[in-house]
Amino acid sequence: PQSRLPALGTTIFTQMSALAAQHQAINLSQGFPDFDGPRLLQERLAHHVARGANQYAPMTGVPALREAIADKTRELYGWQPDSDAEVTVTAGATEALFASITALVRPGDEVICFDPSYDSYAPAVQLAGGVLKRLPLVPPHFRVDWQAFRELVSERTRLVIINTPHNPTATVWHEEDFAALWQAIAPYEIYVLSDEVYEHICFDPQGHTSVLGHASLRQRSIAVSSFGKTFHMTGWKVGYCVAPEALSAEVRKVHQYLTFSVNTPAQFALADMLRAEPEHYRELPDFYRQRRDAFVQALAPGRLELLPCEGTYFLLADYSAISDSDDVSFCRWLTTEVGVAAIPLSVFCADPFPHTLIRLCFAKGPETLSAAAERLVKL
Ligand code: PMP
Ligand code: GLN
Repeated sequence: PQSRLPALGTTIFTQMSALAAQHQAINLSQGFPDFDGPRLLQERLAHHVARGANQYAPMTGVPALREAIADKTRELYGWQPDSDAEVTVTAGATEALFASITALVRPGDEVICFDPSYDSYAPAVQLAGGVLKRLPLVPPHFRVDWQAFRELVSERTRLVIINTPHNPTATVWHEEDFAALWQAIAPYEIYVLSDEVYEHICFDPQGHTSVLGHASLRQRSIAVSSFGKTFHMTGWKVGYCVAPEALSAEVRKVHQYLTFSVNTPAQFALADMLRAEPEHYRELPDFYRQRRDAFVQALAPGRLELLPCEGTYFLLADYSAISDSDDVSFCRWLTTEVGVAAIPLSVFCADPFPHTLIRLCFAKGPETLSAAAERLVKL
């Protein structure tokens, strides 16, 4: 058939996890924990299955979960969304992102995102007929050049896709980034899709800065999050988005025909978990900071040069002291010959990427991380 996405292959995460399995490599490529989520969450899931909460959930999500999300938003970002009109539960953040892009982007609309960016944005924009404009983020700091950003913005811009803490660069945005974003887009009718799936994995002393904390920006924004990251349950595929009523209504038009609704007992279990153990997400930065620091320390004697990690569970490493091959070849070699799987950074970029950077996931138990580090320091 004539493809609508002719240049697209299988995602790098599927490829690298398969290669890791084939070669029994330690898999630090695809981002997922190798430990389980909270016991309480598992018990609540079993409870809701046993009591028969097994039929379709309401299209927008079960009220108990939407209310818990609205309360969490107020606790963290100082503003309470209307849980009926402004919170929508989705099949992971992936669905929220796809539904939002599909709902907002019309053929010919320009969409601004950053380079590198998480891999699911571009195909969704392409399917919607949008024109992607990518602003490069330059290593090692990957900060946004706001002057260059303003030059990309025009009457043709419909949507800006942002992501903090940022996958794959592990950088985070501060108040001044949101102020600059608002200044650049305020004169136009531009929307913001804010991917905040790592909102609870932020090592900045100030904590995570959400688009929902900005009184002007949030009136034009869809904020997306994922319980997969927060509760170490990436396989549950439950996420959500928060947006003003009119924007939520547009996203729901797509959501109702993309998935209609999301796994019912999992939603009840997550609602119970948010109410019963909010300390789980409050303590998550410390939980992952310990893993990050232990991994950085274990890698220190080696020749990988580590970049700063301000958030997410990913660490970037420059391998130029070890090899001069391109990053895709280096990651394949690392997986098949060294026994550690990683993600090459160029796959998140549209433009040719001259850097020698790989992404390592440290959402792993201490034994996994020290076994991987043992192999990596020998390089
Ligand atoms: N956005 C980013 C930046 C991610 O890293 C991921 C998954 N790792 C997602 C979205 C998708 O989240 P989910 O698994 O909830 O669909
Ligand atoms: N978001 C995860 C990562 O960046 C992967 C999710 C997926 O495999 N779709 O590794």
